[in-house]
Amino acid sequence: MRRNIVAGNWKMNKTLQEGATLAKELKTALTGKTVNCDVIICSPFIHLTAIHETVKDSQVKLGAQNCADKVSGAYTGEVSAAMVASTGAQYVIIGHSERRAYYGETNAILKEKVRLALDNQLIPIFCIGEVLEEREAGKQNEVVNKQISESLFDLSAEDFGKIVLAYEPVWAIGTGKTATAAQAQEMHAFIRQTVAGKYGTAVAAETSILYGGSANAGNAKELFSNPDVDGGLIGGASLKVETFLPIAEAF
Ligand code: PEP
Repeated sequence: MRRNIVAGNWKMNKTLQEGATLAKELKTALTGKTVNCDVIICSPFIHLTAIHETVKDSQVKLGAQNCADKVSGAYTGEVSAAMVASTGAQYVIIGHSERRAYYGETNAILKEKVRLALDNQLIPIFCIGEVLEEREAGKQNEVVNKQISESLFDLSAEDFGKIVLAYEPVWAIGTGKTATAAQAQEMHAFIRQTVAGKYGTAVAAETSILYGGSANAGNAKELFSNPDVDGGLIGGASLKVETFLPIAEAF
């Protein structure tokens, strides 16, 4: 179902103790407050169990930042979707551009991760987005279409309906250079149209599409006011309650 979502991606930041403190602070700050969106923390794997204990009876939901593309077995250092789900986490980011760029995650690998996440009742937050050279060459729609179709379009309409999409232009991630509200809307509308072309307008209308890339309290309101922008995936600004909460309050 289409929902407004603000999800924090902590990336490789925070010790266990620091992460537990931040989750507690966020929970406390949200207590007695109504925000018009789902608030999600995507922490490193090792934080999940502790943070789940902290936030389980609160408005704050929990996700991981990755999961393995294999079910189980001799894959040293990997963490499976079943393991993520067993911590109480409900979401998992899949296909973040840093995973694609630094860890060689291809559309085919990501397709496996999505399947395993869904098999374990996790909601994938599936990231797509072009690099600067692709945008400068006017190829952003082609790139995003390929990422979506090669990783997701084998899913049934029912399974696709469980997925959250996050459009994250790579040139905007961690750079302080946000896409303009118009650029975000244009791409989000294209993504929704691409989904409609495959699954129909009803499924497309129910898909949450988040924007990610240097979103902050100053630009969130304008970005979220676009009809096809259903929230944000937030990196740097999710590392402090003072910078994260105002983004959720922008709805
Ligand atoms: C991200 O990594 O998903 C992200 C959007 O990062 P930042 O907000 O720091 O650009």
